[in-house]
Amino acid sequence: MTSRKPLIAGNWKLNNTVAESQALAGAIAAHVGDGLACDVVVGPVATSLTAVAQTLQGSAVGLSAQNTHWEDSGAFTGELSPTLLLDAGCGYCIIGHSERRQFFGETDAGVRKKVAALLVHKLVPIVCVGESLEQREAGQTLDVVLGQLEAATDGLDAVALAPLVVAYEPIWAIGTGRTAKAEDAQEVHGAIRAKLAELKGESWANSVRVLYGGSVKPANADELLAQPDIDGALVGGASLSASDFIPIIDAGARRAES
Ligand code: PEP
Repeated sequence: MTSRKPLIAGNWKLNNTVAESQALAGAIAAHVGDGLACDVVVGPVATSLTAVAQTLQGSAVGLSAQNTHWEDSGAFTGELSPTLLLDAGCGYCIIGHSERRQFFGETDAGVRKKVAALLVHKLVPIVCVGESLEQREAGQTLDVVLGQLEAATDGLDAVALAPLVVAYEPIWAIGTGRTAKAEDAQEVHGAIRAKLAELKGESWANSVRVLYGGSVKPANADELLAQPDIDGALVGGASLSASDFIPIIDAGARRAES
């Protein structure tokens, strides 16, 4: 039994109108009520954040954005800032998702600035790291993942980084239906925890929640969450339906109680 409270987070990506987002959030909130043994977070599109925050009022479900800029305000057309995310009711923000790195030019340096900005505003960064299939086949998984982690936390100390959440998401497993084998995922999660300890100390490393992401579904959630260093899940496709996401939440609660 670990003292880390499991976290099950849904990344809704570019899906759902305001009404659809509220309906999905409402179904999840009804299940979670005022709290379960695991934390639960949903990540709607930016235009739904305020409305979903209203839906979630009185429930223990947290609200996450999918990205932020590091600056608070200014001439940055099209961007959102940590201040605005707080204003919209967010407590979390996904950073460095592989889709942002692949399609929108997100760099390690940008991820690091975003992590720092979120921490200043007391928002929890969910920092995504992960290797491509090519990198995995070339034996570069740990170099890539641990390098991304080191860059994201560079120059920040364990006190500032206390709320950090890491999500290990092998790119080849995202949205493909191909999940990493639980033991293979654990191997990377174990290496992530060891790297965190090397970077900022063991007691901090033992408190950081490291989520797994990549085609997590009700059918594989328990096996993944049974691994000692897998503290939860970042869920894409299966988070878009309450009937798939709720059993994954329940698997998170079971991990907490095991
Ligand atoms: C994700 O996008 O963070 C993700 C893990 O997606 P999926 O669950 O659909 O693989």
